[in-house]
Amino acid sequence: MKNLFYVVVLAFILASCNQKSNLKEDTTTREPNSFAIVIHGGAGGIKKEYFTEEQQEAYTLKLEEALKAGYAILEKGGISLDAVQAAINIMEDSPLFNAGKGAVYNSEGNQEMDAAIMDGKTLNAGAIANVNHIKNPILAARIVMDSSSHVLLSGKGAEILAAKYGIEMVDSSYFFTEKRMNQLKELQGKEKTKLDHTAFLINNELIDDHKFGTVGAVAIDKNGNIAAGTSTGGMTNKKYGRIGDVPIIGAGTYANNLTCGISATGTGEYFIRTVAAHEVSSLIKYKGLSPAEALHEVLFNQIGPLGGEGGMILLDKNGDVYWDFNSTGMFRGYKKSTGETKVEMFEKTN
Ligand code: ASP
Repeated sequence: MKNLFYVVVLAFILASCNQKSNLKEDTTTREPNSFAIVIHGGAGGIKKEYFTEEQQEAYTLKLEEALKAGYAILEKGGISLDAVQAAINIMEDSPLFNAGKGAVYNSEGNQEMDAAIMDGKTLNAGAIANVNHIKNPILAARIVMDSSSHVLLSGKGAEILAAKYGIEMVDSSYFFTEKRMNQLKELQGKEKTKLDHTAFLINNELIDDHKFGTVGAVAIDKNGNIAAGTSTGGMTNKKYGRIGDVPIIGAGTYANNLTCGISATGTGEYFIRTVAAHEVSSLIKYKGLSPAEALHEVLFNQIGPLGGEGGMILLDKNGDVYWDFNSTGMFRGYKKSTGETKVEMFEKTN
């Protein structure tokens, strides 16, 4: 009987060793003091033929400006949370993207914005939802993280807290853009929502204005701390009060120094249902998948089959940058302390 006990214990030990050896060994490491930032400006039906040369240049310049703002902070030894915030601020202030200025309209003709930020070192997180008087929603998400005991505040409560901490408040008319309003008119009264970058018809004319998109950033600083943030106006013609994946920690935004930081963009409901960003992190952590494999698994084998569309940017604990999307394109770019930098928007090139 005693022998049988030892045999069972031995079998158990061998089984758990074997399980561990199934995990691929992570052989890469982070260069000391290296840093990097990756950003996105939304995913959707982004095709070259929809954009004039000038529009492509405008996007490229704005994405580069956002990258530079975040990079400058990291270069000076600043923390990744500040870099993420700075990059997102640039994109929130631009009507090119669906965040802050230029956010899309809900079914009632109002703009309701969501944002989130997460610290991969402490797993602290802050998020806001359904706000329309905060000029830069990502700043308010940071306030929730740093100055409250909560993770997610919505509507009036979020605005009161932001104002109390001196975050710039604006009249909701600040967010008005005519083209966004046209996007809404095409869908209003129909049971449909639309990703910003999806092509749409007005009076049978293809509107090739795809200059909107949720924005996000992930950065790793010289100390190896990862932060992720996302800011959005949501989806055109969404119902009043609808909250997307962006402020749901683990769905559209997630950071953990042990694995990676992620910011997502796409049809939010599917990213919530698959807990997309956390799922990617878990596949890396517990299943030993590479970041590229984990992104592919969640976007193509989980979100895609449910009917969801979008993409994710990822920066891993070694400072390596990854992205993937199951939509036609995604505005995206990165800048690393190694000198490598890239800005792209159309189909995948690698
Ligand atoms: N994920 C956002 C939302 O569902 C939309 C987007 O990424 O464009 O609110």
